[in-house]
Amino acid sequence: MALRDSIEKYLDAGYPMFYINTYEEAKTEDILKKAADRRRVAVWSVAGGYSVYDTKNDEYIVPPSRGDNYGLQNILNVMLADANELKRLIFIIKDAHIALENEQIKAALKEAAIKINGGLDSCVVLISPVTKIPVELEKYITILESDYLGFEEIKGIVKRFINDNKIGPVSNALLDEISVALKGLSEYEINNFLALACADDGELTKKDLRLIFDQKKQMIMKSGTLEMIALKECIDDIGGLENLKEWLKKKSKIVKNINEAEKFGVDMPKGVLIAGIPGCGKSLCAKATAHLFEIPLLRLDIGKLMGKYLGESEANMRKAIGLAEAISPCVLWVDELEKAFAGIGGDGHEVTARLFGSFLTWMQEKTNPVFVVATANDITKLPPELLRKGRFDEIFYVGLPKINERKKIFEIHISKRRKQDLKNINLNQLAEKTNGYSGADIEGVVKEAVESAFASDKSSLTNEDILDAISHTNSLSVIMKDSIEKMRKEYENKKLKNASA
Ligand code: ATP
Repeated sequence: MALRDSIEKYLDAGYPMFYINTYEEAKTEDILKKAADRRRVAVWSVAGGYSVYDTKNDEYIVPPSRGDNYGLQNILNVMLADANELKRLIFIIKDAHIALENEQIKAALKEAAIKINGGLDSCVVLISPVTKIPVELEKYITILESDYLGFEEIKGIVKRFINDNKIGPVSNALLDEISVALKGLSEYEINNFLALACADDGELTKKDLRLIFDQKKQMIMKSGTLEMIALKECIDDIGGLENLKEWLKKKSKIVKNINEAEKFGVDMPKGVLIAGIPGCGKSLCAKATAHLFEIPLLRLDIGKLMGKYLGESEANMRKAIGLAEAISPCVLWVDELEKAFAGIGGDGHEVTARLFGSFLTWMQEKTNPVFVVATANDITKLPPELLRKGRFDEIFYVGLPKINERKKIFEIHISKRRKQDLKNINLNQLAEKTNGYSGADIEGVVKEAVESAFASDKSSLTNEDILDAISHTNSLSVIMKDSIEKMRKEYENKKLKNASA
């Protein structure tokens, strides 16, 4: 729901206090003024002081003022002393995380919430770039999400920037490309990025897209929960897993032509869960998917979503999902899913359970082109709700590579390092000798063989070097014998699709 709609709904229902986590103070203030419905709008911030605006007559009752009289504590005292001051008012407190460090202010806000609950048709809106809700106010506060800018809004900002700065002509196609690249950013950030992009030659050209991409990567890194991953691996770097690769290719046709597909009646694919043995290419598949779909890859670290304040974890999850949606189309890779959602249902896992709930609801309802690739080693630890139909389009099981897959994996990793020596290598023999090896084991064998050939001053890599490395390597199936067998049985019981043909 858009911020304006949720504010209006909650105000009507008499909710006394909101918390909005955003950097976009000006835009949020604007939305709140529009939602005010002829109420007065008071605004307080650390640097800007205090003002009261009458939205009915479109004029200031108190113009922006600073000084001791306009300290937040004083203002709250006046409001609490006279109920009329608090009637039909939206009181916006910016820099809320700073204000809420003060015990007296917390106490005054609690009193204000109780008074508003008595039917004053008002609310207090706390705005801050971080979510830090003090326990004293927990039960009065509702957390709201800020809106991300839509494509047309971004395009408007870029056009304004071009006009204001008298930048040379920019084609409509480039304008569209730049606007898509700026998705997920605030107006302030967009203007900064554009200024930086123009700093070298005073123009906005195609090469500036790279800079915007790099800057955006920075910003996503700063968000702390999402990571933008560079796309190096492609689908041909995966040896075997033919069923999964075929499936992904089919989906890529839809994602790349989503408008036509939707017109034809095809739903936007939701995503895929890839589960199975470690080191057999699950992460590789996540990366290759984004490459195949030609869209950015974002990795979500659910562990990093956990915060220590009430509501912080859920707010982080919403923020991460909102950012992914704003950046969409994209692939959202949720790594080690079972670690994130393990132990749900047990005691003391309330936050995890709530996070899991919001993730499930989002998966179920999402219509945005965010394609989720979730990877997990141990599916037995995942809650059954996640595996139910309707969450993921498909669940694949990745097992140890079969003989023909091992042959291909050897070929891929030898080609990456010593393509010229491939003709001297007996791939069939290597594949036969490596029953029970994972893809990562095979890569390790090739790396070791190349390294020892170099260390012994050889001019090329030989079959013997690789056989030698194999003889030194303990395969995964030896190291993890029991758990691999257990997992294989579990996957067979669950009748999951095998990623291999
Ligand atoms: P984990 O669960 O431990 O994260 P994973 O299944 O995600 O393991 P990857 O990280 O994809 O495994 O694999 C590790 C490395 O092994 C890859 O970077 C790749 O180089 C190699 N590898 C694994 N499987 C394959 C494969 N099928 N084809 C080519 N290389 C592979």
